[in-house]
Amino acid sequence: MPRLENKIAIVTGAASGIGRAVAQVFHSEGAKVICADIREQPPAIAGQGVEVATHDWINQRGGTAEFFKVDVTKAADLEALVAHAVKNFGRLDIMINNAGVSIESTNPKNIWEFPQDAWDKDFAVNATGVMLGCKYASAQMIKQEPSASGDRGWIVNTASVHGLVGMSGIAGYCSSKHAVMGLTKAAAHDCAPYRVHVNAICPGITETPFLPPLPEEIRSVLLQRHPFRGFGKPDDIAKAVLFLASEDNTWITGIGLQIDGGALSM
Ligand code: NAD
Repeated sequence: MPRLENKIAIVTGAASGIGRAVAQVFHSEGAKVICADIREQPPAIAGQGVEVATHDWINQRGGTAEFFKVDVTKAADLEALVAHAVKNFGRLDIMINNAGVSIESTNPKNIWEFPQDAWDKDFAVNATGVMLGCKYASAQMIKQEPSASGDRGWIVNTASVHGLVGMSGIAGYCSSKHAVMGLTKAAAHDCAPYRVHVNAICPGITETPFLPPLPEEIRSVLLQRHPFRGFGKPDDIAKAVLFLASEDNTWITGIGLQIDGGALSM
């Protein structure tokens, strides 16, 4: 039986990369998916052109998906997104707060010269955006009937290995992802009495349009830091999100799951 049969899921940042893979895996496991993003189309990938939008990809395969335009930094957008899910599908089982940016990734700066506007933008999307997603999703989940497992909902926030450890040049990104970890733990406590799970994932380097072009010498150093000698693929991350967001997860809340090919263990 599909693991998300009849489940209603929202995925933010679903147009590209990890969010797109999560939406696709959720569809393959029977969920109806609302693909929320500030843009509808995936970015063009050099040599591959532009792929079909995520919701179209799902609908073309017989699934049920919609695009909903949101800017996750805006409370009204997140509130409208959750209200839309409930109006169209009756409830919200799964919320994946995944949209994220790293403003400084193409131009890292040490802390003594770190631009405040990069810090503010990182926090607006990565921390405030995730907080607003948790806020409006949990407000709906705590008041809905539990599913067969006794759970009322599953929230998964995308943090990063940089929500657990530091790295030079990306203070804004690191700090905003540490905020996601703190938020996840606090929200998990708030939501536990209602059997709403709140967890985070901590991906390592993953091959998506998010990754800035890496000079070969840096790429080979980074590859050496991964026991599997490679970088993650969006599907590697999506399969772990599926577990945390499914009824297989009955007893996990408040964690940050490392999905990094073992990088942090080295
Ligand atoms: P990506 O750039 O492919 O996708 C990010 C998506 O978020 C895009 O579709 C973008 O349009 C959307 N987005 C950005 N700002 C938004 C906003 N204000 N409102 C709504 N949508 C917005 O990147 P990705 O690698 O798939 O990243 C997804 C998440 O994974 C991010 O939170 C990122 O920090 C995290 N992450 C990525 C890596 C990596 O190496 N790729 C590693 C660890 C964590």
